[in-house]
Amino acid sequence: MAIFKYSMAEVAANLKSVCDKISYAVTKRTSEYQYYEPRLVAISKLQSTVSIVSAYEAGQRNFGENYINELVEKAFSPLILEKCKQIRWHFIGHLQRNKINKVLSIPNLYIIETVDSDRLANALNNSWPKFRKRNDSKLNVMIQVNTSQEKEKNGCDIAQVSTLVKHVLENCSNLNFMGLMTIGMYGYDIKDGPNPDFICLIKCREKIHDELGIDVKDIELSMGMSSDYEHAIELGSTNVRVGSAIFGARPQKNNQKDII
Ligand SMILES: *Cc1c(COP(=O)(O)O)cnc(C)c1O
Repeated sequence: MAIFKYSMAEVAANLKSVCDKISYAVTKRTSEYQYYEPRLVAISKLQSTVSIVSAYEAGQRNFGENYINELVEKAFSPLILEKCKQIRWHFIGHLQRNKINKVLSIPNLYIIETVDSDRLANALNNSWPKFRKRNDSKLNVMIQVNTSQEKEKNGCDIAQVSTLVKHVLENCSNLNFMGLMTIGMYGYDIKDGPNPDFICLIKCREKIHDELGIDVKDIELSMGMSSDYEHAIELGSTNVRVGSAIFGARPQKNNQKDII
């Protein structure tokens, strides 16, 4: 099957358009959310390393992947190692504890956005010292929340978020808690009002503030994808995860071998 790929120039143009829309969305936020510039994470799952280099050379630094084997293959690929020395990898997929060493071993791992249980947090906390390059460096993590409460979605229960954050802060000295992440329900139409998953994540942050006394400015919100990143930013997202709007439609997972 022929797989349509964007050229370098097209990826660069898409990236610029997304960055422009982000800047515009920022101006529409209420003043309480004007204090930061959201981070754009280019989600490159099932896309080629050549596409990643195209975006990197156009200035993009944060990239996200959600399959462990694919992330490992890309992060160690000679092309990425040579051309993308400052890349920051975000792991955004479901992490099984028996795969932790694999993901922690990659060069330029920036954050695990999908910690959803104290057992996973403990396992990351225990393993990180074997992999970190500097003695004092902590592993950045976000807590994934199942805001849509769908059985097939990962993430901790809404009611458990504060307890899990408290656990990370008190018992996981090798982890740096950065914020909350949600995927949410697919296909929500914002004509019906603000996305309830985003509102839910904002409420979780307020609860953490109330119960643990952490300044809300120190709790990031990772929410928003290609279809709704501008909306998410208006509501206060600090980290949007955008794939197809930059790289085009993804090939099927079973065609992955053809593209790397
Ligand atoms: C694939 C994926 C994205 C990006 O999706 P697009 O709709 O292509 O922007 C964002 N977040 C997660 C967790 C994903 O798996």
